[in-house]
Amino acid sequence: MNNLKDINPASPKETRPRVLIIEDEPGMVDFIEMGLSYEGFEATSVNNGLEGLEMALSQPVDLILLDLMLPLLDGIEVCRKVRQVSPVPIIILTARDELDDRVLGLDAGADDYITKPFQFKELVARMRAVLRRQTLLNPKPGANPALNEGANAPGVLTVADLKLDVNTREFLRGSRSIELSMREFELLELFMRHPNQVLKRQTILDRVWGFDFIGDANIIEVYVRYLRNKIGEPNLIQTVRGVGYVLRNQPRPKEREENGGD
Ligand code: CA
Repeated sequence: MNNLKDINPASPKETRPRVLIIEDEPGMVDFIEMGLSYEGFEATSVNNGLEGLEMALSQPVDLILLDLMLPLLDGIEVCRKVRQVSPVPIIILTARDELDDRVLGLDAGADDYITKPFQFKELVARMRAVLRRQTLLNPKPGANPALNEGANAPGVLTVADLKLDVNTREFLRGSRSIELSMREFELLELFMRHPNQVLKRQTILDRVWGFDFIGDANIIEVYVRYLRNKIGEPNLIQTVRGVGYVLRNQPRPKEREENGGD
């Protein structure tokens, strides 16, 4: 997580919901942690059930993401034991063919489950849903802003003279309407939700193409080029050499990013 200094968390640390990830697959943990950091959550992870249970019972935690097949203590047992003493929301991460386990998990007191591989968007939507339910049951003053992105987020994103309506899926530059493919739209939405933040290539890949994307990472470059061509001049999507891309709310001098491949 120390390599995320170049992004700004969506909300101050003390108001960020604390998420405990109990998962033994490192790639999955990285995928979730990086995404959650962008969305304004504070994530901690452990890679076995026993440690997970200890953390869940000893640390302040607002939500648990719980894998089922875990070393030392399986997820169902963790769920059952946590539930005996705590109402903390639990979302189970299951593999596609583990239907019985999902049922067991819900029986053991989990609030929801999500099937791997999943789109990050869906995970966050489910997290916000269970957290909102929890907040309704136990309202706290100054409830968390991170809960309100998603469902209650503004439907129209504006950066410089770009305007993206995520409900109608219309995109305007100034008064010019521009058609985008589904992937271009998702890429632009990611940029417009994080203006002036450098987005790493891996993050873009995870968020727009999904954790299970297998293929050439140069796809990002290709799609950024499509977007730049459609959006036109002055160019607002800049290449940050060796890192990724950033959408600026005003253009930089031209020579800085023309021909600026990675
Ligand atoms: Ca596992």
